[in-house]
Amino acid sequence: MALNKVYKLNTGASMPAIGLGTWKAAPGEVEAAVKTAIAAGYRHIDTAFGYGNEAEVGKAIREALAENGLERKDIFVTTKIWPTFFRPEKVSEGFKISLDRLDIEYIDLILLHWPVGLNPEQGVAIPRLPDGTRDIDTTVTPSITWTALEKVFEENKDKLKAIGVSNHPIPILEELLKTAKVVPAVNQVELHPYNPQQKLLDYCNSKNIHVTAYSPLGSTDSILLSDEIVGKIATAHNKSPAQIVLSWGLSRSSILPKSVNAERVKANADLIELSAEETQQINELHKTHGKRFVRPDWGVKVFDEEFE
Ligand code: NDP
Repeated sequence: MALNKVYKLNTGASMPAIGLGTWKAAPGEVEAAVKTAIAAGYRHIDTAFGYGNEAEVGKAIREALAENGLERKDIFVTTKIWPTFFRPEKVSEGFKISLDRLDIEYIDLILLHWPVGLNPEQGVAIPRLPDGTRDIDTTVTPSITWTALEKVFEENKDKLKAIGVSNHPIPILEELLKTAKVVPAVNQVELHPYNPQQKLLDYCNSKNIHVTAYSPLGSTDSILLSDEIVGKIATAHNKSPAQIVLSWGLSRSSILPKSVNAERVKANADLIELSAEETQQINELHKTHGKRFVRPDWGVKVFDEEFE
């Protein structure tokens, strides 16, 4: 059963390979989605300060654990520190806000959400300069923030079980690893058949950094789900295109499909083993359809634009 699959992190912890994504899952709807997921057997929930729903996600987790006779240790919760908390003196505050909002005793994994800091002085999540571009915090680098997160990790072992990064391409990871004392447990990145990230996957595997796939369905209004090849494979197995794309994803890394629809939450964990030939057909798709779906206007180079 796909929901039983786990990956071992470099901390020794087991991370369930399927996690429920909660980006754009608004307060009000996210609670029901998290409860449906846990009742259906999901044991990993992904949220972030930036999604504005940590409090509801935490409440849903606490209630779902009680309703399903589960303990805190039975569930793996990932959250992310937003870039306005990337100054060394603010990283601890970023961690504590998420811990307070979630209110679930401890956080299993916290990630630096992007490899770019944002100016905290404007007091908004996405500060902008008068010309409309993002107000990048030039006083920090990913390595500086990572060192501060290592300290938070060291000082809060009972409240924080693992630290990692998100959206970090190879050059930034290489830089970060030069000074890191703790190797990131995870790099969470956009990954699906149109953006398979093979090079990054190989690099992270070689460094013992686990890769988690975000937007594994191709994100909101996904064109990937109307791909002809995916559709043919889906018909052959009497599955939906979403289930085929996720089956492919699960064979390569952990995945975080998001849904607030109860039927889709359940269907997204009902996955199959694809044949070598089907896998190969899906492996080829990026060559003609290479695409990144999540592209915030950072204004600085964050993405590796090769689709391989
Ligand atoms: P997904 O690839 O998970 O796609 C979600 C979209 O697909 C939603 O519109 C959802 O609608 C729809 N959907 C879900 N299941 C099905 C299905 N079976 N058939 C058809 N449509 C379906 O996109 P996300 O971008 O949300 O990525 C997943 C998660 O990854 C996020 O929620 C978040 O937790 C994480 N993430 C992390 C990022 C980072 O920077 N670290 C960036 C982006 C995402 P509906 O809800 O109505 O079912």
